[in-house]
Amino acid sequence: MTWIAHDFRSDTVTKPNDGMRRAMADAEVGDDVYGDDPTVNRLEATLADMLGHEAALFLPSGTQSNLAALMSHCGRGDEYIAGMEAHCYVNEAGGAAVLGSIQPQPLPNEVDGTISLSAIAGAIKPDDIHFARTRLLALENTIGGKVLPSGYVGEAVALARRFGLGTHLDGARLFNAAIAGGQDAREIARNFDTISVCLSKGLGAPAGSVLVGHEDLVDKARRIRKMLGGGMRQVGILAAAGLYALENNIDRLAEDHEHAKMLGEGLARYPQLKVEPVQTNMVFVTVVEGDPQSFEDHLRENGIGVHSRYGHQRWVTHLDVGPEDVEKALEVVDALLTNWPDA
Ligand SMILES: *Cc1c(COP(=O)(O)O)cnc(C)c1O
Repeated sequence: MTWIAHDFRSDTVTKPNDGMRRAMADAEVGDDVYGDDPTVNRLEATLADMLGHEAALFLPSGTQSNLAALMSHCGRGDEYIAGMEAHCYVNEAGGAAVLGSIQPQPLPNEVDGTISLSAIAGAIKPDDIHFARTRLLALENTIGGKVLPSGYVGEAVALARRFGLGTHLDGARLFNAAIAGGQDAREIARNFDTISVCLSKGLGAPAGSVLVGHEDLVDKARRIRKMLGGGMRQVGILAAAGLYALENNIDRLAEDHEHAKMLGEGLARYPQLKVEPVQTNMVFVTVVEGDPQSFEDHLRENGIGVHSRYGHQRWVTHLDVGPEDVEKALEVVDALLTNWPDA
């Protein structure tokens, strides 16, 4: 993808910098399937401690981390509740159903990313031979770049508990939520039985996610990780990148949010674009006037990478785009939109 000079497609596109690569090269390693890798053990202990939980498990991806969590909470024929926009429902190739024999119960996400409490209560099945057993509520924070209101998270989790459900948080971007919401990540995480955190998104590591939570659930997930083919050997090389990311790249997420705001405000000046309010590092844009395809082509011809589908665009800021990339992108947009589509 060498045509992309300014890459706003995703926060997964970051490349490890020299400091991170040095930490990886210097990592002490061992066979992690035997529990021998000191760097993996340190990463797991560090994140469990940061989030105020008992245990943690390093996995190759966020998809596997969510799947291992869902399979720890739910058995064959059980059901989990998730938002219709949730990554674990939409973007994980149906893994929970295919590999876990777990049925999803998707519910609509409101504009603010929440699932209404009455919808959740209404979807929890009574004990009846007609129904799958509802076992788990899975929330996501941030979801679509939005931070779940903290009061809501507490109420949703309390509701789940009242009905005897487990709770999982897909916190791929937990630290974005914490920084943008002015909250400690631990405050968000302590509500849930399990939390999955991605190291390879805004935190800038090349790979890896960590599943944090109660010891019994994390122990189960360790067996499931092996079953799913995610037991890795001298993987301290990757865990070292994760530790480097936790030490160096959390506070700076505020810069990504700032850049996304600049970008959102700049794009909102054009009547041809509808821009959703920006909360974290994502800007959602819809082309409402003119041909979306020619707008996309123009961006592409000028080296600006964005994620687009059906006239809807997602622009994501991250470690490897700075204010100069935002300025350049806005110049490119301006060159087309000033007289478009009438010119
Ligand atoms: C990226 C992402 C995942 C999955 O992570 P991968 O490492 O890409 O498998 C899960 N949940 C959310 C919200 C994500 O953005």
